[in-house]
Amino acid sequence: MLDPFGRTVSYLRVSVTDRCDLRCVYCMSEDMTFVPRAELLSLEELDRVCSEFVALGVKKLRITGGEPLVRRNVMSLFDALGRHLKTGALDELTLTTNGTHLARYAADLARTGVKRVNISLDTLRPDRFKAITRWGDFAKVMDGIEAATAAGLKVKINAVALKGINDDEFDDLVAWCGARGHDLVFIEVMPMGEIGGDRNDQYMPLSMVRARLSQRFTLMPLADTTGGPARYTRCAETGGRVGFITPLTHNFCESCNRVRLTCTGTLYMCLGQGDAADLRTPLRRSEGNALLRAAILEAISRKPKGHDFIIDRRSQTPAVPRHMSVTGG
Ligand code: SAM
Ligand code: SF4
Repeated sequence: MLDPFGRTVSYLRVSVTDRCDLRCVYCMSEDMTFVPRAELLSLEELDRVCSEFVALGVKKLRITGGEPLVRRNVMSLFDALGRHLKTGALDELTLTTNGTHLARYAADLARTGVKRVNISLDTLRPDRFKAITRWGDFAKVMDGIEAATAAGLKVKINAVALKGINDDEFDDLVAWCGARGHDLVFIEVMPMGEIGGDRNDQYMPLSMVRARLSQRFTLMPLADTTGGPARYTRCAETGGRVGFITPLTHNFCESCNRVRLTCTGTLYMCLGQGDAADLRTPLRRSEGNALLRAAILEAISRKPKGHDFIIDRRSQTPAVPRHMSVTGG
């Protein structure tokens, strides 16, 4: 699948639910309205859409959310999608999770062919974790990380840099991940969805994070091999990889290879733009996949060049009204 700018689309991210057991302050407001359950694609339908993408050349699938592990019976989707790994049609099946239910699922995930998981963790302090997530239990995430490691999954930690909230912990996160062999990726807050607060209060450019880290660590730039938005460095002191995703200070759209499916079957061709395609209607209109395939290809032909996120005092409204949990981070 080639988009109008010559980029090959080989990566599909699937938000299997917009619901979550946490309410991270930068992601959601405390009082969220979720999609009614009746509007969700069933797990069988999600498998059908994902499998059509695989048939069209998608090599990497990431299951995300909301919190993907709160979707009932979600392991049956992993089981089903795992068959594409066995045939070699798919290179990678992976997941982004907050880790709270990972202790229960890590071994099953490994069994279905998952090799790597991204776990979101913005702080190493239990009380602060509770404040950021509004009610999360830090110990559960630690158990989840331990279970993932024990199951042989490679763990990457995602940490959102939050001004005045976790900006005194970046060194600790680098040291902690380095000591455990986890890659660590810092993320800038993106202006997505109303959160019941001002993002100017949270936003911290990663150039600042990097400058702070450089006072204690030597971060050596690595050649970009992942094709993703993160720029990686190797930390000389820990030997670990430390990455930076900078949607606001550095635009990474030129090499974008991905599209995103919501739990209701809407396909977003760009995380930061509103244009979308409805795949649920063609999916349900016929038992064969011809209509679905045509709708996917038509959508890819409309993939926009990039996003234009801004967080400053003049732009008080989010760049896109939907939350990250709708399209999946
Ligand atoms: N619940 C899972 C988790 O937290 O890993 C998966 C979904 S979550 C939306 C995916 C990632 O998006 C997380 O790493 C989270 O920190 C990040 N995220 C959520 N809202 C964000 C925002 N407004 N800006 C930047 N990152 C955000
Ligand atoms: Fe839930 Fe993930 Fe959003 Fe936090 S970042 S509220 S864990 S979806």
